[in-house]
Amino acid sequence: MLSLVQLYQLLLDFYGYQGWWPVDEGYHRAKGTDPRDEIIIGAVLTQNTAWRNVEKALENLKKYGELSLEFIRQVSTKELEELIRPSGFYRLKAQRLKHVAEFFNPTDVVEKVSREELLKVKGIGKETADAILLYAGGRLSFVIDTYTKRLFKRLYGLDGGYEDLKSYVEENIPKDLTIYKEFHALIDEHAKKYCKSTPRCGGCFLKNFCLSAVPSS
Ligand code: SF4
Repeated sequence: MLSLVQLYQLLLDFYGYQGWWPVDEGYHRAKGTDPRDEIIIGAVLTQNTAWRNVEKALENLKKYGELSLEFIRQVSTKELEELIRPSGFYRLKAQRLKHVAEFFNPTDVVEKVSREELLKVKGIGKETADAILLYAGGRLSFVIDTYTKRLFKRLYGLDGGYEDLKSYVEENIPKDLTIYKEFHALIDEHAKKYCKSTPRCGGCFLKNFCLSAVPSS
């Protein structure tokens, strides 16, 4: 069985560094805004939607408002709903963004907040909390998502819940921020390219290690 470190290395060799979380550094330099705000906003917007829809909402914020938590705090809920409409569930997400923007005031809160405290904020579930802690806070908190669950189930036969999988990963990879960030991004990349809902096992470089490989697909 492939160790998680071996899996990470194989994914990294195949796909290269992903550089997650994607942030428009040039925009934030020009506007004097905090790139961590973009990560926190994106982590809420990406709930139950594809990333391409989040990108449209982020573009709207940049074009017609400002990609910052300060703007989220100031703008009316109605206007915010319109700006983030492409991300889906826009009424709910506008409310959530308002709560989150109040909580992260100032953004530096992300450096110290505990996972338990963050999970008490309305609209922040485990995946969102871990994404914020890891990518905005630079904290060692591994993110589990649907793609991780799918890949680990197929590859290793692991069928645990969120906390089980999170602990399993955190106990078996080095405590290294780059590895935490990249491993999550690489798993997602593999799940989008090969280990899709209908897996493309035929071309998958993990097929010789995988419990669920379907050779003919
Ligand atoms: S061999 Fe198939 S099921 Fe296994 S990881 Fe690759 S795509 Fe997924």
